[in-house]
Amino acid sequence: MEALGYDEYRIDRLGSVVGIIRGTAGGPPVMLNCHMDVVAEGDPAQWEHPPFAGHLEGGFLHGRGSMDIKGPLAAQTHVGAAMKGRAPGDVIVAHTVFEERGGWGMQDLLARNEVEPAAVIIGEATGGDITTGHRGRAEVEIVLRGVAGHASAPDRATNALDLLAPVLSGIKALDRSQPGHPVLGRATLVVTTVDVSPESRNVIPDEVVAVVDWRVLPDSTDQDLLASVRSAIGAEMGEVPEAMGVEVRMASEVHRSYTGISERRGLFTPGFLMEADDPLIRAAARAVGRREGSEAARVRPWAFATDGGWSRGVFGIPTLGFAAGEERFAHTNRERWELAEAEWAFNRHPDLILAVQKALA
Ligand SMILES: [Zn+2]
Repeated sequence: MEALGYDEYRIDRLGSVVGIIRGTAGGPPVMLNCHMDVVAEGDPAQWEHPPFAGHLEGGFLHGRGSMDIKGPLAAQTHVGAAMKGRAPGDVIVAHTVFEERGGWGMQDLLARNEVEPAAVIIGEATGGDITTGHRGRAEVEIVLRGVAGHASAPDRATNALDLLAPVLSGIKALDRSQPGHPVLGRATLVVTTVDVSPESRNVIPDEVVAVVDWRVLPDSTDQDLLASVRSAIGAEMGEVPEAMGVEVRMASEVHRSYTGISERRGLFTPGFLMEADDPLIRAAARAVGRREGSEAARVRPWAFATDGGWSRGVFGIPTLGFAAGEERFAHTNRERWELAEAEWAFNRHPDLILAVQKALA
């Protein structure tokens, strides 16, 4: 950003990077956003190309982060510079930390009023479409407690695993009863992991933790989610036997930023949805167009969650997505970014930014 002539640039307290190209006429500020983190690469041997080599082949940039999201991050950063002297409002380029773990960077940036955008454009893969939202993601932990003992003498222990079957059937029943949504589809939940402790094959465990991955509709709250899990499990389990216990809680973990700040945080990413006929969305779709033909861009939600859940879902700032890349490659060992599409999307950004600022003015 320094080399590209940004008017301001800084690193915030958590390590997110924020640069500003000042507008020419005090128009509404628009923020471009990607995230700084990537998911783990897994076993490098399972990749066709080395995950961190930046390998170019067949018209694609290959590797972890090529599409999610270092490629778009670089593109947005250069788009900002290209807008110098051209946009009436500020172009804020903010690349946030911890998006893949719940969005601490975006939440903190907006909560502290470090920047005050009138709209946010997120660079998660859209395949050139305009995206308008997504379901949120919650992680719920169900903790089952008993009394540990030697497996040779079950009478002297209370096996926490005895409570697992009603938990699994309760979660299945709760999944079947989830509400549908005309645009985002149905909320879904599924048990993804079960951990026991002590973890030993000849010990009866006194603690079992089952984790539920819950893709929630916008406006879901922690309290509602926890209450419905408790009631679904209660319906299957009946009364909890003496000497045993059940606790239902939102998952959390201690995050430590590379700038040295630690905090225990929930892993909840909120959802959001902009109306497809919102004037801002319509203006964006017309401005971007399509790679082939003269129609306006397709308008649809994403399948995965993004920091837009914070910017729109929590802070109420109009938010949309636009970037090159196929969503199905995100988080896989085939991650890639098509260069011709990336160049096309890069070149559509000035019109997009000007249209968004005009629609907000
Ligand atoms: Zn991403």
